[in-house]
Amino acid sequence: MIILDVLTQYGTRSLDRTFSYLYNGKKKVEPRFRVRIDFAGHPAMGFVLAVHPTSQTPPELEKENGYAFKEITEDDIIDEEPLINDHLMLLASQVADYYFAPLISVLQAMLPQSLSPRLSSLHGPKVAYEKWVALLDASEEGLTDKQIEMLRLVAKNSPILKKEAGSASILEKLIEARKVRILLQEKMRFQIPPEELDVPHEMTLDQQAAYEAILESPKEVILLQGVTGSGKTEVYLHLSDKFLSDGKTVLMLVPEINLTPAMVEYFSRRFGPKVAILHSGLTPGERYDEYRRIANGKAQIVVGARSAVFAPLSNIGLIILDEEHVESYKQDNSPYYHAREVAIMRGKDEGAKVLLGSATPSLETKARASRGVYGYAELKHRINEKALPHTQIIDLTDRSNFSKKSEKLSQPLLLKIQEKLDKKEQVMLLINRRGYWTGVNCPNCGYIFTCPSCGGNLTYHQDDQMLKCHHCGFVERFPAQCPNCGATNLRRVGYGTERVVKEVQDLFPSSRIARLDSDIGQISRNVELTLRAFQNGEYDILVGTQMIAKGHDFPNVTLSGVVLADIGLSLPTYRASERTFELIAQAVGRSGRSQKEGEALIQTYNPSHYAIVYGARQDFEGFYAREMQERKITQYPPYVYLILLEFGSANETKCVQASYDFKKEIESQDFEAVTVVGPLTPYYALTNGRHKRILLLKFKNRDLIAGYLKNLLSKYSSRGSVDISINVDPLDY
Ligand code: ADP
Ligand code: ZN
Repeated sequence: MIILDVLTQYGTRSLDRTFSYLYNGKKKVEPRFRVRIDFAGHPAMGFVLAVHPTSQTPPELEKENGYAFKEITEDDIIDEEPLINDHLMLLASQVADYYFAPLISVLQAMLPQSLSPRLSSLHGPKVAYEKWVALLDASEEGLTDKQIEMLRLVAKNSPILKKEAGSASILEKLIEARKVRILLQEKMRFQIPPEELDVPHEMTLDQQAAYEAILESPKEVILLQGVTGSGKTEVYLHLSDKFLSDGKTVLMLVPEINLTPAMVEYFSRRFGPKVAILHSGLTPGERYDEYRRIANGKAQIVVGARSAVFAPLSNIGLIILDEEHVESYKQDNSPYYHAREVAIMRGKDEGAKVLLGSATPSLETKARASRGVYGYAELKHRINEKALPHTQIIDLTDRSNFSKKSEKLSQPLLLKIQEKLDKKEQVMLLINRRGYWTGVNCPNCGYIFTCPSCGGNLTYHQDDQMLKCHHCGFVERFPAQCPNCGATNLRRVGYGTERVVKEVQDLFPSSRIARLDSDIGQISRNVELTLRAFQNGEYDILVGTQMIAKGHDFPNVTLSGVVLADIGLSLPTYRASERTFELIAQAVGRSGRSQKEGEALIQTYNPSHYAIVYGARQDFEGFYAREMQERKITQYPPYVYLILLEFGSANETKCVQASYDFKKEIESQDFEAVTVVGPLTPYYALTNGRHKRILLLKFKNRDLIAGYLKNLLSKYSSRGSVDISINVDPLDY
C-alpha cells in the first residue's frame, strides 16, 4: 500500500497543498505523474508530488488521521514517465514562491495543453485537427451586435480558424442560425520547411568583441546592448553554435513569434532539424509533438515565446532573451510570471548563461548591469557603419506646420512621404491606436458613447462599422443618431490606424497602403501576409500600431513617421515614459536599415518631453539617466520592488472593506521601508459586474515581507466573496 501526496487541479490559494490518496496496484506511479482523483465528490486531475510506502492498513490510517483516505486504481494513473524533470520541478516551485502563485497553476502554465495537470488535458488532441469557420449566409437580421461583429469578421476572411473567431458561445449561435459552419481539417504537423542551410556570416570586429566578452564574462546574466541594426542576431547564432558544439542546448526566447518570423527563420536556416519552435500559434497537437521532440533530446535548440522558458531541454547552456524589454514577456494573468525573471532562476539552477539583448533595455536590467550585478557587452555601431536615421520632431501645437490638406499629417511629413513615393522607397507610419474615431459624442445634448459594462470610451471601427470597447470587448452597432436626443450630427473625435489609412489614401491616391494592428492580427495569417507583402514591395506605405515597430528588417524603408507620439504618455503607469521612449526609438530604428539613408519624423504635442526627445535621437543613455532620476524621486522600480494586490467582488462595500482591512493589517506590522499605496480605484473599476480596488506595495527588501504576506494571503483567501489576485513586479501603476 502506498500513500500519494497529490496536488489537485484547482489553482486557488486555499487549495494550494497536497491531499492524500491510497494506491495498491502494480502499475508504476511516481512523483510528477498525473492521476485521476475524486475530489470533494467530483472527478478531478491530480499531480503527484510524493509517494510514501506504508505498512498501515486503511482502517489504521483512518484512525490515525480521523478520516478515510480515498483510493485510486491502476486505471487512474495517466502517465508512464514523470511529466517533467527535477530541474523543472524545482523551477516550478521557485516560480510559485516568487509570484505567490499556487504551485499547480505554475505547472499548468509550464506544460502544453495535452500534458497539463487538468482533466481537460485528457481530451487534448494527439492528432492535430483544426477547426475552421466558413461563411454560409451574410445577412444580419435577427442577430445581436456581438454576433454581427463575428459574422462580419468571418465574411471578410472566410474561412478562418475557429480559435481566431472569438467567443465560442457566440459562434455556437451563428452556427445554429446557419450563418456559418465548421470545417474540420487534419492539420499537417508543424514542420519547418526544409531549406538549404545558411552559411554563417563572418562576424565583424564589434560582433567578435561582444561574442568574446559574453563567453568570458564571469557573470551568470549578461546584458547585450546594441543599437537597432547592429547585428545582435548574428551574435546569438554564433553563441548558439558554440554551446551546441560543446554539447549543450540553447533556449532562444523572442517576444512574439508571429511578429518576429525572421528569428525562427534565421535559426532554422542555420541549425535545421535541431531547432524546435514553441509558441501559442501552434495547435495543441503540434505543441505536443514539439514538446516531445525537445523532451527526448531530438531538438537541441528551442525558439519560442514567453512560455518556452519552461521548455524541457536538458543540459541547457545558454538562454537568450531577444528584446528583453518587451512587456509581452510578462504574463498578464495568474501566475503573472515574467520570462526574464524565470530565465534567470532557471539559468542559476542549471548553470546556464542568460543573455539579455536589446537596443533599449528595461531600466531594471540596465540598472543591474550598471551596478555590476549583470555582465555587459555592447554593439555600438550599425552593421556597415550606417548612420542612424536623420530625425525631426514636429510640434503639433504649432499650426503653421499644417497646410489645408490635412489636420493630422503635417506639411513636412506629407512632403517627405511624397519624396519617398517618387523615389520608389517605402514608408512606415506609426499610430499606436486602432480604430477610426476614438470617441463619439453628441454636440446637441452632450451624450458620450461609453461602454455600459466598464465605462470606457467606445471606438468606432470602420472595417465592420461597429462601436467597440477596447477594454472589455463590448460591441454595438453604430447608430446614426444620438440615443438620448435623436440628433444626427454626431461629433466624431480622435483617430486611429483606420482613419490614418483613409487620410493617406485620400492624399496619395495612387499609393498602395497596408494596415497592421491587432484587428488585422486577429486572423494571425494576415500578420505574416501583410509583413511579407510589404517586404516584397507590394505596398508603398505601412500604417500600424506598435506591431510594426518591432524587430522587422525592411531594407527599402527610408521614412519612419510617428503620427502621434503622445498616446502612451498619459497612461496611468510608472512606465509611461519608458514605453513612449522605446516605441519612438524602435520606430525610428526601422528606417534606413540597408544601403539607403533613413529619415524619421515624429509628430507630437509635447516636443520637449524627454521621452520623445531622447527617443527621436535613439539616445538610450540620455533617457536612462533622466528616467532614473524620475524613478528615484517617485520611488518606483528599479529603486523599489512592487507588488500589486487586486481585490475583486460583486459587492462593492465588501471589496472596499477588504482592501482597507488588508492595508491596516500590513501597516500594523510596522515593517520598515514598506509603503502601502491605496486602496486605489483603478481606471476600469468595474468589469463584468465585479468591483475592483487596488493596493500597491513598495518595498526594498523582499525577504522581509514575503513570508508574512503569504500567511496574510492564505488567511484572506478564505474570505468568501472577495477574491485577491496578486501581481508581483506589475508593469502598470
Ligand atoms: P539587430 O538585431 O541588432 O537590430 P540584426 O541582427 O537584424 O540587427 O542585423 C542587421 C542586419 O545586418 C541584418 O540584415 C543582418 O543579416 C546583417 N548582418 C549582421 N551581422 C552581419 C555580418 N557579420 N556580416 C554581414 N551582415 C551582417
Ligand atoms: Zn468596456
